[in-house]
Amino acid sequence: MTALGSSGTALIDALKARLGESYVLTAAGDIEGHITEARGLYRGEALAVVRPKNRDEVAFVLQECAKAGVPVVPQGGNTGLVGGGVPYGGVVVSLTRLDGIREIDPVNATITVEAGCILKTVQDAASDAGYLFPLSLASEGSCRIGGNLATNAGGTAVLRYGNMRELTLGLEVVLADGRIWDGLKGLRKDNTGYDLKDLFIGSEGTLGIITAAVLRLFPKPHARVTAFIGCESPYDALKVFQRLREAAGDQLTAFEYIPEFGIEIVLKHMPGSVRPLAERHNSYALIELSSPQKDADLQSQLEAVLGEAFEEGLVQDAVFGSSETQSQALWGLREHLSEVQRMEGGSIKHDVSVPVSRVAEFIDVATKACEAEMPGVRVCAFGHFGDGNIHFNLTQPVGMDKAEYLGQWERFNRIVHDIVHGMNGSISAEHGVGLIKRDELMLYKDAVALDLMRSLKRALDPQNILNPGKVVSIGDNAPAALPK
Ligand SMILES: Cc1cc2nc3c(=O)[nH]c(=O)nc-3n(C[C@H](O)[C@H](O)[C@H](O)COP(=O)(O)OP(=O)(O)OC[C@H]3O[C@@H](n4cnc5c(N)ncnc54)[C@H](O)[C@@H]3O)c2cc1C
Repeated sequence: MTALGSSGTALIDALKARLGESYVLTAAGDIEGHITEARGLYRGEALAVVRPKNRDEVAFVLQECAKAGVPVVPQGGNTGLVGGGVPYGGVVVSLTRLDGIREIDPVNATITVEAGCILKTVQDAASDAGYLFPLSLASEGSCRIGGNLATNAGGTAVLRYGNMRELTLGLEVVLADGRIWDGLKGLRKDNTGYDLKDLFIGSEGTLGIITAAVLRLFPKPHARVTAFIGCESPYDALKVFQRLREAAGDQLTAFEYIPEFGIEIVLKHMPGSVRPLAERHNSYALIELSSPQKDADLQSQLEAVLGEAFEEGLVQDAVFGSSETQSQALWGLREHLSEVQRMEGGSIKHDVSVPVSRVAEFIDVATKACEAEMPGVRVCAFGHFGDGNIHFNLTQPVGMDKAEYLGQWERFNRIVHDIVHGMNGSISAEHGVGLIKRDELMLYKDAVALDLMRSLKRALDPQNILNPGKVVSIGDNAPAALPK
């Protein structure tokens, strides 16, 4: 905890009086989990971590902090990967107690949830009501809806259902001065001016604190088929993707890319995992088709497209997950990828997107550029190929010192982000900007867009107390962007 001046003490006393002593944490041991980031790249400090139970208490906290001029950092599950939820002084507002499911409207196909609901809880509630809430991430057992909204989270189902922005119809938000904006409308059509909810989605806690949302539900898929293909190059994989998209339309729910290096390290570190195809291939894709119709013959459709691609040499080998267990084993290869990279040493990560038409070219060009820059660097480019979103991660050369390698982060940022920018892509596809990409954003974002972003920040948070120094900096108290 940072030293408390008399105004800090008065603030903490006021918060304790309203929220209750046990919901205003100040002891070092109690706040430690809230001041460090999931991967341990960042560690900050805080006066206190507060745990309000409803939107009125959130509003009270913001009013008091605004009066005292003390920064406020909202936090959900603290699984973010860009240092966005790490406080550098001030008060952390943990939303975990706002975890109610307020309503499910089956005819409107919507669910109204509070920001502290764990994503998995929302998926389960939708499923119990006979619906699908499709946002799906590896962190779904601990990330929370407010965090998903604030980062406009993506994941493996974006290809079919869109990311959090597309899944949201309404929001409730507490503003920097403590006012509550009640935008909890479940409307598919509402042309009454500016779309305010889209300002807060993806704003990473810098414009307001989201306390509840109306989210879209979908029919549950009743038929599903999974396949794993091996190709000679990402270019061939892209041609297969295009054909599947044309043949299967919205039934194509996932097209995830994995390189041979990714498969190698999953097999090396994950006991029980099995090489899915007999031979090694340069590129693999995990494909899923699904449909709400029980009798949809997805396997025949997939076989027809892949059979033709095989004849033409675009697909070198393929296997179908013909049971739920086999499907899960194939998905396991994809899901373990992030975890196993850690076991190979330091990893310099880029979460980028380019137009889908250029995704194979991006993988090819960026891989060659990084390998030329540092012979021995091991490229693990994987992910949401069908969205043009690649996690372009660089595993350290074998035997190199980890700290020395991670010290090269900026050097590789320049290479990878320059290529992305040249392809009219984005330097952050799904994890956000937070701290880690704040200074990169200044290099690549359109100058007018940056100006507009700063104007919005000043208009909604004139005192610069909401998660200061993250995304765009408007004050002079910003913490350093790159991890120490
Ligand atoms: C293993 C793993 C896999 C992941 N996979 C994916 C993936 O596939 N796709 C993806 O998009 N992300 C992924 N992530 C990143 C992360 O899980 C997401 O960004 C998630 O949406 C963050 O939710 P959270 O509740 O943990 O947010 P936090 O980490 O607590 O916060 C994230 C940001 O949102 C702000 N915030 C939190 N709650 C609120 C609120 N109520 N109002 C306003 N601002 C708020 C915080 O200040 C911070 O800036 C992954 C992370 C891990 C660890």
